[in-house]
Amino acid sequence: MEKQNIDWANLGFGYIKTDYRYVSNYKNGAWDEGALTTEDTITLNECACVFQYAQTCFEGLKAYTTEDGHIVTFRPDLNAERMINTAKRLEMPPFAKERFLDAITKLVAANAGFVPPYGSGATLYIRPFLFGTNPVIGVKPASEYQFRAFVTPVGPYFKDGAKPITIRVCDFDRAAPHGTGHVKAGLNYAMSLHAIVDAHKQGFDENMYLDAATRTYVEETGGANFIFITKDNTVITPKSDSILPSITRRSILHVAEHYLGLKAEERPVLFEEVKDFAECGLCGTAAVVSPVGKIVDHGKEICFPSGMEKMGPVTQKLYDTLTGIQMGRIEAPEGWIHVIK
Ligand SMILES: *Cc1c(COP(=O)(O)O)cnc(C)c1O
Repeated sequence: MEKQNIDWANLGFGYIKTDYRYVSNYKNGAWDEGALTTEDTITLNECACVFQYAQTCFEGLKAYTTEDGHIVTFRPDLNAERMINTAKRLEMPPFAKERFLDAITKLVAANAGFVPPYGSGATLYIRPFLFGTNPVIGVKPASEYQFRAFVTPVGPYFKDGAKPITIRVCDFDRAAPHGTGHVKAGLNYAMSLHAIVDAHKQGFDENMYLDAATRTYVEETGGANFIFITKDNTVITPKSDSILPSITRRSILHVAEHYLGLKAEERPVLFEEVKDFAECGLCGTAAVVSPVGKIVDHGKEICFPSGMEKMGPVTQKLYDTLTGIQMGRIEAPEGWIHVIK
């Protein structure tokens, strides 16, 4: 397929309609065979469970063009598994792992012209989602569902270099103990919108959420996990049952230990400890790692030694190594790279 005529380097992070999306429907207790379609609109009954009771979840991953010209995705099996866990928590029928991988492969291959070229900094964002479609007014799970996945090309996350951001300690909670913080449910985002709009109004880039029960432990932001680097170069990431298990964060811990020879720890992190760390970053598929330069806790500032101009040195090494693996410049661990074509 011919490459689309798109100004890749100046793309933002927004929806651009591509040629194909993948759709499968669930009815009478079974998923249909599924297919690619050009139809980008969905028509549903006004009482569909997704509208009334927010029975919906999603995933997010990317396709890249590697240095040697292949189109690949990064650990899509983990997205498939996470979506199954989310579906179970929301009483939705899981979409099988092999079917998920097959859908993503067909979808990306059909939209190959929209996969940004190697070196452009842009990538193809893949958005699989699953939602209850039939009318439900008494509170219960839907009995019919749609699995759908579309793609949209997105620009380089850091257009003018990775400038550190400023975040605030948030007074709202993201996730309750034993709640839904560990699954990728749309509802977790619905209730974070007010907090992020307010943060932006107050001049902050993101919210740091603390644990809802004691407000003493670090959890995550609205859409990214934390990593911290100690002054003796240990990579630390918070452990909690209400944090979303980021695939980027899990990959970074592996890279830290097995590629960079650093110590890596996943453990509860007290907010009180944060002032003693050397570097801080947010990890997720969109940015890989965004450096945090400053955290503001009700007027009290924590300024990391890495400063507000560039990524800290360890964060930079983690970023370079992981993006190197994704783009095919550095050999990947077994099974991390899924070749589409
Ligand atoms: C999706 C998401 C992340 C990042 O996960 P990745 O798999 O690395 O993209 C982190 N936190 C939340 C709340 C998320 O929804």
